[in-house]
Amino acid sequence: MSKGRIIVNTGDGKGKTTAAFGTALRAAGHGQRVAIVQFIKGSGNYGEANAFEKFPNVEFHRIGSGFTWKTADPSIPMAFAREAWDLARRLALSDEYDLLVLDELNYAVTEGYISEQEILDLLAGKPERLSVIITGRNASAGLIAAADTVTEMRPIKHAFDERVPAKKGIEY
Ligand code: ATP
Ligand code: MG
Repeated sequence: MSKGRIIVNTGDGKGKTTAAFGTALRAAGHGQRVAIVQFIKGSGNYGEANAFEKFPNVEFHRIGSGFTWKTADPSIPMAFAREAWDLARRLALSDEYDLLVLDELNYAVTEGYISEQEILDLLAGKPERLSVIITGRNASAGLIAAADTVTEMRPIKHAFDERVPAKKGIEY
């Protein structure tokens, strides 16, 4: 059984989450077991959640209340982030998965909901075979050091800059 990878998708450009889901699709196609925990994001109509429902070997969880600029009380997103993190830890340590995607976890770190050290401890103690993908802008230096593969998505241009609204099937 080969050793799992630690992968970080960061940077300000588009593609961090979708690249992680592309890898989840790839793993699922090999019959591997995949778990996805999406931090921060709230109950939107995201195509990925609907699509992964059709895969028996992919488990998809979204635990959040939306990006924090929408809420006045930080204890709400904080509680969601802690709940998502507890679930992520349980899934990681269960040794039932080949791939765990922790989408937008970096955002939970920059907001101060989850500490870098907690993440490093989990990565150090995870089952050997488990690969972990962590996404979100501003990945911390310690996480970058711990990872095997780190990619920075750099925006050259984005339709949003021209005030084009988010598009179904492309942005969500
Ligand atoms: P995606 O989910 O499309 O792969 P992402 O994970 O790289 O994007 P996030 O930082 O999670 O990007 O952004 C959340 C939302 O903002 C998504 O709908 C994403 O498509 C969009 N987005 C990503 N990068 C940019 C950008 N540079 N400018 C404007 N909107 C962006
Ligand atoms: Mg994202």
